[in-house]
Amino acid sequence: MRLQNLIAVLIFFSIINFQSCSTVPVTGRSQLNVIPSSELMSMSFQQYDQFLKENKLSTNRKQSAMIKRVGDKISKAVEQYFAQNNMSDELKGYQWEFNLVENDQVNAWAMPGGKVVFYTGILPITKTEAGVAVVMGHEVAHAVAEHGGERMSHQVVQQFGGMALSKLLEEESDALQGILLTAYGVGSQVGVMLPFSRLHESEADHLGLIFMAMAGYNPQEAVNFWQRMADAKGGEAPPEWLSTHPSDQTRIDDLKKAIPEAMKYYKK
Ligand SMILES: [Zn+2]
Repeated sequence: MRLQNLIAVLIFFSIINFQSCSTVPVTGRSQLNVIPSSELMSMSFQQYDQFLKENKLSTNRKQSAMIKRVGDKISKAVEQYFAQNNMSDELKGYQWEFNLVENDQVNAWAMPGGKVVFYTGILPITKTEAGVAVVMGHEVAHAVAEHGGERMSHQVVQQFGGMALSKLLEEESDALQGILLTAYGVGSQVGVMLPFSRLHESEADHLGLIFMAMAGYNPQEAVNFWQRMADAKGGEAPPEWLSTHPSDQTRIDDLKKAIPEAMKYYKK
């Protein structure tokens, strides 16, 4: 191979690499991301509107207002945190939105670009506004760390291999939207949130604590919330939960360890 060709090949691969890997804010872990966030967001906004059309918003004004209030505070905290760490670019294109949907499932999720849904079924466990902030912080952390994009990317690579992105977006857009919904836990039946990997869960727990503290909620509430979750699950946890989530005790122990750091951000 002529040197010129070799260089061309090397440049080609370094571009691929650059485009398909990104870094998780804060932890700096590099992750696989084959779908550019602009594409992810446009898919997400479309799916979110569709979801809201097909599902019933809660008519409880007080509770709906609380979800929006907590979401506003946490998203402002996230923006502040990203600005302080020179990462504001990573929130480009975000259109935060927080809705409470009538549904008995104990669930909440956040899609790319800051589109959040809480189900009414989680409110008996969040109990207080600070409890809502625990879940909001955790879900928003999954979203800004692009855990869903990472899950999607692995799924896409597995299913479509090296198919060109443009062709994928054009010819497989329905399949991609299905992958998006699964990756972000929309419609997930499992426990409080989609069982991300342990790594994703502990990243979201850690970042979520910081975000809630910056928004003015006491991060110590996270311990109480996850304790209530553990009690509510009782002995009936589905196997998916058991295999992918850290045990409740491990999670609570890890949260306790992270609280002193989060307390530094806590503004009453
Ligand atoms: Zn999670």
